[in-house]
Amino acid sequence: MSKNILPFEGPGLRKLRRALLAWYDQHRRELPWRRNTDPYRVWVSEIMLQQTRVAAVLDHYARFMQRFPDVRVLAAVRESSVLAVWSGLGYYHRARRMHQAAKVVVRERRGKFPQSAAGWLELPGIGRYTAAAIASIAFGESVAVVDGNVERVLGRIAGANPGREAAWQRAEAVLDRRRPGDFNQAMMELGATICTPRAPQCLLCPLYTWCVSRGAEASRPQPPRKRKELHYALARENGAVLLMQRAADAPIMAGMWELPIIQDDQRNGDKPLAKLKHSITDTDYEVTVLPVSAERSHGITADGRWFTRKRWERLALTGLTRKILRRLALEPSAVSSESK
Ligand code: SF4
Repeated sequence: MSKNILPFEGPGLRKLRRALLAWYDQHRRELPWRRNTDPYRVWVSEIMLQQTRVAAVLDHYARFMQRFPDVRVLAAVRESSVLAVWSGLGYYHRARRMHQAAKVVVRERRGKFPQSAAGWLELPGIGRYTAAAIASIAFGESVAVVDGNVERVLGRIAGANPGREAAWQRAEAVLDRRRPGDFNQAMMELGATICTPRAPQCLLCPLYTWCVSRGAEASRPQPPRKRKELHYALARENGAVLLMQRAADAPIMAGMWELPIIQDDQRNGDKPLAKLKHSITDTDYEVTVLPVSAERSHGITADGRWFTRKRWERLALTGLTRKILRRLALEPSAVSSESK
């Protein structure tokens, strides 16, 4: 099967598999979801890791597992509770779909997870990559995965990247059928830590012997990031803050709560309470938080609601609003100067 797909086969391919697995056994990162192959833990980690760096996932994963330790607990809570714990991870549709899938598993499958990639594909929020990743890691199914890391590694080894579909064929051809879960994780780990997009560390790479490009493949130039300014109002009254709910049909972060935005013509030269930077996908935001009195807040939003800290801590806040509130709550001087 590997003929015409990879530049090596037979004994060379077997050696490559052994080299990669030996490297993974020795160098893999100790991550909380790797402590065992419980499908619930693997599933949660795979959903959180979609389009998100490991470092950003760690704290959220720990909180999520503490709050929702198994699929029955997850299925029983309200969506807003799931979003509150997810707050700050972004791509909130992932949390919504996972919650829907938990209900399907509990109600229609008596709490039992599918054991094959085909079975996982029938659940909400599960695509080809996630289904294969969970089935191979948690159940040892012999199916390959392809994400951005795997596609890049395979493209560099073969000396050309003819696209995602060819990468799936290559991944199937190279897969170690005796340890598919470990092999898949090893490929992704190699792409995340050694064969990185801009500066691959080829001299540390276990696949150097087989690699055609050895770092010579120029990575695609990244499109320039966008820059935007955002101004938020912080109105406080009796220890509560004013928050607004995003529309249920908003294209992103639908239904989440956030501080009211102040438009250009609503600003009146107040000294900012805080300035911070925040990045979402391809945009870097310069965020300014301005103090607004409770009376003036009516001119900024008529739909806001007041929440004490105890309540907003458990609310489905956007990641940026949670960041702002936590920062200001830790800086009483900044808040008190506003509330005088
Ligand atoms: S040798 Fe370099 S380019 Fe090739 S797979 Fe390893 S890190 Fe990537």
